[in-house]
Amino acid sequence: MSTFSAPKGTFDMLPPYSETFNRIRIQFGLELRDAGFQYIETPVFEDTGLFVRGVGESTDVVSKEMYTFPDRAGRSLTLRPEGTAAVVRSVLQHNLQAQRLPVKLWYFGPYFRYETPQAGRTRQFHQVGAEAIGSQDPLVDVEMIALAVEGFQKLGLRNFRLQLNSLGCKECRPAYRAKLQDFLRALDLDEDTRRRIEINPLRVLDDKRPEVQAQLTDAPLITDNLCEACATHHEFVRSMLDDLKIAYEDTPKLVRGLDYYVRTIFEFVHDGLGAQSAIGGGGRYDGLAQELGGPELPSVGWALGIGRTMIAMEDEGQEIETGADCDVYGVALGEAARREVFKLITELRLADIPADMAFDGKKLKGAMKAADQSGARYALVVGERDLAEGVVQLKDLTTGDQTAVALDAVVDTLKEKLQ
Ligand code: AMP
Repeated sequence: MSTFSAPKGTFDMLPPYSETFNRIRIQFGLELRDAGFQYIETPVFEDTGLFVRGVGESTDVVSKEMYTFPDRAGRSLTLRPEGTAAVVRSVLQHNLQAQRLPVKLWYFGPYFRYETPQAGRTRQFHQVGAEAIGSQDPLVDVEMIALAVEGFQKLGLRNFRLQLNSLGCKECRPAYRAKLQDFLRALDLDEDTRRRIEINPLRVLDDKRPEVQAQLTDAPLITDNLCEACATHHEFVRSMLDDLKIAYEDTPKLVRGLDYYVRTIFEFVHDGLGAQSAIGGGGRYDGLAQELGGPELPSVGWALGIGRTMIAMEDEGQEIETGADCDVYGVALGEAARREVFKLITELRLADIPADMAFDGKKLKGAMKAADQSGARYALVVGERDLAEGVVQLKDLTTGDQTAVALDAVVDTLKEKLQ
């Protein structure tokens, strides 16, 4: 016990959970690299204005959930609540858009939102994210969706659904927004929701309360009110997903919690998660770069929640192979043997063979138990007599077979056996 514990809404990631977590990070990294994405890492805190401007002042994320604090020089800083605004900020700051477009970047890290903690919702959570910046090609929207689907599938997930919608653009959304406001103003809604109609009417569509949903049955839908360009874009995305046999649900009331989205938006939901069912989401944000003072850079991206993805995996009984901690475990009997075994495991590691050993002069029984617990395939058992003969005992921990191997042949022998 310590006097302290992890702050509310945060948790320590311990083995084996942390091992699985790390595997997921590696898997997404390899997958995204193969699709032409390069890794980017931005600071964990940013100028508060970036999120106010980028994510939108009226969103819950900005108005209620940010960890904002002044630094010692009085600057207002905020722990990042999401990834996209900072990635676009970084692209613009370093003029990456001068390179071949789209600039494809991926990232992984902790994000922070002051929310009420519950299952699947924490105040520090981790996301893997990917952004394709500088393309208006609807094929890129489809590529992004396909990559997220591939990622989930590679983790063994089956029971997730893709919800799809278009939010229109600055040409068609204002007229739709006004139409929706007219419809909503005539409903029987509480004060808070009435206020929301004036600030962010699309969010009302997302209200989960049954008494609100019941009144929204005949609400005008954005997909019936798209301009021709947006309708064509949306139709392309849908038909290309059909071609790829990626199932989706048209979800015309889907909106996202961040203001920057236009046209394609999507969310991945998993039915084994209860209330917090979204395991990831994203969409197009064609106006964000300009909003942050840069040139026009139509873009699309997503972020997937790792914590919720891991709950979904558990729900589906999916485990990923995290591998044994080591392949070879050294057991030394006596001081001279300790030095020799340590030299051997160092050599093995240099030869890319995962190796570990018993420390603190453990006796044979305790050391062999540690070898078993380590998950290693082989134990290197070395006593004084072995040393005198210039050999080690190589014990196969699965079969129990033991053979003597010359000291200078240990690395090569193990390389061959572990192939
Ligand atoms: P968003 O951009 O807000 O849709 O977030 C993308 C994904 O991050 C969501 O689909 C969740 O999987 C995850 N996420 C967002 N907020 C939290 C949170 N407070 N705790 C855990 N995961 C979260």
